[in-house]
Amino acid sequence: MRLSQFFLPTLKETPSEAQIASHRLMLRAGMVRQLTAGIYSWLPLGHRVLKKIEQIVREEQDKIGFNELLMPTIQPAELWQESGRYDDYGLEMLRITDRHDRKMLFGPTNEEAITDIFRNDVRSYKQLPQMLYHIQWKFRDEIRPRFGVMRGREFLMKDAYSFDIDYESARHTYNKIFLAYCRTFTRLGVKAIPMVADTGPIGGDLSHEFIILADTGESEVFCDKKWLDKDLTGQGVDLNDRPGLENWVQTTLSDYAATEEKHDKANSPISGDDLIETRGIEVGHIFHFGTKYSEPMGATVLGPDGKDTPVQMGSYGIGVSRLVGALIEASHDENGIIWPESVAPYKVGLINLRTGDDACDAACEDAYAKMTNAGIEVLYDDRDIRAGGKFADMDLIGLPWQIVIGPKGLKNGVVELKNRRSGEKTEVTFEAALNQISA
Ligand code: ATP
Ligand code: MG
Repeated sequence: MRLSQFFLPTLKETPSEAQIASHRLMLRAGMVRQLTAGIYSWLPLGHRVLKKIEQIVREEQDKIGFNELLMPTIQPAELWQESGRYDDYGLEMLRITDRHDRKMLFGPTNEEAITDIFRNDVRSYKQLPQMLYHIQWKFRDEIRPRFGVMRGREFLMKDAYSFDIDYESARHTYNKIFLAYCRTFTRLGVKAIPMVADTGPIGGDLSHEFIILADTGESEVFCDKKWLDKDLTGQGVDLNDRPGLENWVQTTLSDYAATEEKHDKANSPISGDDLIETRGIEVGHIFHFGTKYSEPMGATVLGPDGKDTPVQMGSYGIGVSRLVGALIEASHDENGIIWPESVAPYKVGLINLRTGDDACDAACEDAYAKMTNAGIEVLYDDRDIRAGGKFADMDLIGLPWQIVIGPKGLKNGVVELKNRRSGEKTEVTFEAALNQISA
């Protein structure tokens, strides 16, 4: 992409409405714009990151056998009256009336809708487990939308749902999701720690929140410092080996981590130097809730004993749009964003130090064509502006690599290669730069 043709409205000044770094940087880097409180447009640069995160989330769901579908954003009130949540949900639910005076709502989550799909088409335990997910916009009329996309009113969520015949198999499904979440966040280049979470009025012990440690997070969290170096890639874990997977999950969870609601200072298993007390951002939440929806909504199957049995359900969310902010919160410096490679909007920023100079233009065009042909995503700053502005914008938008081509280097047959994360700059031939980027 040529920057001269790319809609990238960067800002030099820090927007006054933004209280935390990620919000400031997303506005300054031209990633999002607020349409009205808690409701954002995703501009091209932000949209690319959002799509990359979404794709990684999708791939990891697919790998553990979940099926993607797409449910609507608008739902009928009746379904929520069946589960009893229509009245319980309160003011966070955006309620709508259609022209026939029917009560509708903009979905804050989809347990009811998926349970309706399930009960209409699944009859026998032989069809279980069923594992379904979608990636869809949600609306919650948050009392205090803030921190940009971190706590929006409209936000993108991956929500998955599972249906099993009994607790043991539901737990196995839960473990699969647990593994998929560990892998997802690892691929996103961030450490999200699974923490025992409050299950609320439903009870049970099977719920974990995945939390990225950050001073600006909204929840208070407590964890063993061992988490910081812990490997969560789950390499070699076999999904179909039930005891093996259970064992991996239990081993992973053996180090202490809990949110404020669950942490009991007096009885904390660790303290002193081993205990990290900080804040965190919730980017995922997984939850086994048994028959909470299947019973009132009549989601039953014929069991092996020939009797109608309500299915065991779980739901599993990832805040896709919140993650864009959370990743920035976890990775930036005073000059701007530092993207993990896996979600960077482009891999390389190509800077033409002197647009209009024939030699520079030709060398940049050549480099641009070569990288594009090699399948490397490159943003070429071909704008006719001062070099200082190009450097500042490139640091701000945080692409992993920068290649700078100018008249002086060209005389010596070299370009400047900069690694955004380390800040390291080297003068090398374009071919050597390309090798390093592709390594
Ligand atoms: P929170 O405690 O942050 O309000 P929640 O527990 O209500 O979140 P869940 O119902 O567990 O949220 O939703 C799943 C995921 O969706 C959360 O882990 C979070 O990443 C994301 N999410 C929830 N609310 C918002 C929001 N207002 N804006 C952006 N993302 C959100
Ligand atoms: Mg939650």
